Amino acid sequence: MIPLRDITSYLEGLAPPSLQESYDNSGLQVGDPNLDISGILVALDASEGVLLEAEKLGFNLVLTHHPVIFGGLKSLTGRSGPERIVKMAIQKEIAIYSAHTNFDAIAGGVSTAMANRLGLVNQQILAPLSGGLLKVVVFVPHAQLEQVRQAMFKAGAGKLGEYDSCSFNLEGSGTFRGGEGSQPFAGEAGVFHQEAETRLEIIVHAELSSRVISSMLAAHPYEEVAYDIYPLENKDPRRGMGVIGRLEDPMEEEVFLGFLKDRFSASVIRHTSLRGKAVKKVAVCGGAGSFLLGKAKAAGADVFVTGDMKYHQFFEAEGQLVVMDIGHFESEQFTRELFYDLLMKKFPKFAVRLSETEKNPIKYF
Ligand SMILES: [Zn+2]
Repeated sequence: MIPLRDITSYLEGLAPPSLQESYDNSGLQVGDPNLDISGILVALDASEGVLLEAEKLGFNLVLTHHPVIFGGLKSLTGRSGPERIVKMAIQKEIAIYSAHTNFDAIAGGVSTAMANRLGLVNQQILAPLSGGLLKVVVFVPHAQLEQVRQAMFKAGAGKLGEYDSCSFNLEGSGTFRGGEGSQPFAGEAGVFHQEAETRLEIIVHAELSSRVISSMLAAHPYEEVAYDIYPLENKDPRRGMGVIGRLEDPMEEEVFLGFLKDRFSASVIRHTSLRGKAVKKVAVCGGAGSFLLGKAKAAGADVFVTGDMKYHQFFEAEGQLVVMDIGHFESEQFTRELFYDLLMKKFPKFAVRLSETEKNPIKYF
């Protein structure tokens, strides 16, 4: 048994809920965070069938990509699908947790699962997020520098891609004079003092800033700590929507269509006119990705693979690339494997299964 809280905080460490879109409702849908979890069933959507499958397995957590409570619930009478699912989950004491657009917005998320399925190399986020990074600057007496720096690193500051413990340190001197009520760590109250200090600069993901600041303040020896928090305009190459990469070996467009169909078990691919060019650069976005078509064109993609494109949106390809719509379910199906792999990495001996009853709600004739 693992407390539900441990599972959700692990997932939220990978894809912070603050990354979700404003319209979204990712997070714990049903259940007590203190519930002891016996097993996890992974699906794209929670349904009555998936809940029954979990019950049969003796599992009490269903992890989904799409939130079951999305447009809001105003009653629990069982009149609508979501109401019935939530009611059933409560009755059967099965928790439901959803990781939706926050898992779309990270490297290693939904679109990465698609890109991996196509074997794309040199993968990059198609539309990196900006505004999610801060720079924290704090002035620390030399002797306490290491303890303050380590406290901030431990709280999650100083991570840049595959690197951690990133900081910049510049020696200088600070001045201060404590008032009557002060008890200065260095010098005396009422006397002007100059102290050798280091200007310590560390990058911090915005969602970790309050944790980093409290750890920093706890480790810092001063009564009044001088520190600054700067918002950064930098794009975060590890966060954002969609993925672009290259095929190891270029393919003819028809060959690529066949390959795509096979890799995603797609019955149908709706696509714009072929251009008679080899496919090298491929952009992908899981789910409804039309909002990234412009980015895919600007990035020089030969094809853009997504789901849920509307009629008018196909015109927007404008012959600059080939849009390939494989279907919403098809494009996101490997999100289940992604969740499975991530859970196995953290809880290797725990019971985690992919739903076997879940089916694409869309059939093709
Ligand atoms: Zn979706």
